[in-house]
Amino acid sequence: MAILVSGGTGYIGSHTVVELEEAGEEVVIIDNLSNSSLKTLDRIEHLTGKRPVFYQVDILDREGLHQVFEKEQITCCIHFAGLKAVGESVQKPLEYYQNNIAGTLVLLDVMRQHDVKNIIFSSSATVYGNPAMIPITEECPKGSCTNPYGWTKSMLEQILMDMQKADPSWNVIILRYFNPIGAHISGTIGENPNGIPNNLMPYITQVAVGKLKELGIFGNDYDTPDGTGVRDYIHVVDLAKGHVKAVEKIKEQPGLGLYNLGTGIGYSVLDIVKNFEEASGVKIPYVIKPRREGDIATCYSDAKKAERELGWKAEKTILDMCEDSWRWQSQNPNGYE
Ligand code: NAD
Ligand code: UDP
Repeated sequence: MAILVSGGTGYIGSHTVVELEEAGEEVVIIDNLSNSSLKTLDRIEHLTGKRPVFYQVDILDREGLHQVFEKEQITCCIHFAGLKAVGESVQKPLEYYQNNIAGTLVLLDVMRQHDVKNIIFSSSATVYGNPAMIPITEECPKGSCTNPYGWTKSMLEQILMDMQKADPSWNVIILRYFNPIGAHISGTIGENPNGIPNNLMPYITQVAVGKLKELGIFGNDYDTPDGTGVRDYIHVVDLAKGHVKAVEKIKEQPGLGLYNLGTGIGYSVLDIVKNFEEASGVKIPYVIKPRREGDIATCYSDAKKAERELGWKAEKTILDMCEDSWRWQSQNPNGYE
């Protein structure tokens, strides 16, 4: 009996595999390695003493997926596989819709054919658009996304809900992540972005390690306490543990579940810079730049539903997140290379 983890060699997937193995679950990973490295498997083995079963398969490859479901005793899928670069999705919408939406449709169809009807899906706070309420509860209506990546998440949520409604023997848990940062406390696995990072924390860590000159802060004239954007940063290991709780929940056959995974606390860009400097002892030079298109001022969760229904709560502090991001970056200045 195993959990299939699509995208399991990626950033959040690899941390989740470690937590699943530590909770005693059997894991089978599928990934096409388009944004991750096989070396992650060595690192996971080093951490847990157990090498996860791995298949290099694309979620668009129906035949490849069939073979995995025939060989392995899969009971549930945690579905991380997808393309996630916001800016790239604006340039390549067809590639994003094809990979994320068509890929998920193929995966769901193959799951159904093998009578595996439990899925936990990686969604995002981006589906709230410019949120109608702060803090954001799951009752907050979905909003208009500003890029194709966000729309793939919004549309896939709808597809999963329609599927579960039509066939209630499916159990679907949708997890809306806020801003995952940090790394495993050992510094062995972490985030490994391709090229110049788009996201704040990997940008800061690359400035700290000397790969980038200075941080550009996108706007200091927002209606927030210090004028810079406010987000709900969540430690990737807390996020991974949320998936272990979702696996426990899905065994109770919940039908449809939808949860925010965040801390419930908002930090500004300048708060992050300050905490990172404290955690690392490295000064982060920055310049104020114009606002980034599509950004909103403030986004943080109300995470009480996950606490109530999944028995999960984020535990790590912003300083833990900064310390662990720094440990990963400084021990692995070139990622998995
Ligand atoms: P990641 O890129 O590190 O991991 C995704 C993995 O999926 C990669 O290993 C990639 O090789 C694989 N993949 C992509 N397309 C595939 C395909 N067609 N077939 C098989 N494998 C494929 O990203 P991550 O940060 O770990 O994100 C995991 C999931 O969580 C994604 O769905 C992402 O959209 C979602 N998410 C991430 C964030 C974030 O800030 N990191 C926030 C909200 C939601
Ligand atoms: N940000 C920034 N400089 C960067 C990257 C991000 O000022 O180089 C800001 C961004 O405007 C937002 C916050 O940091 O207010 C988080 O951005 P990120 O891209 O990490 O996540 P998002 O919330 O946009 O998904």
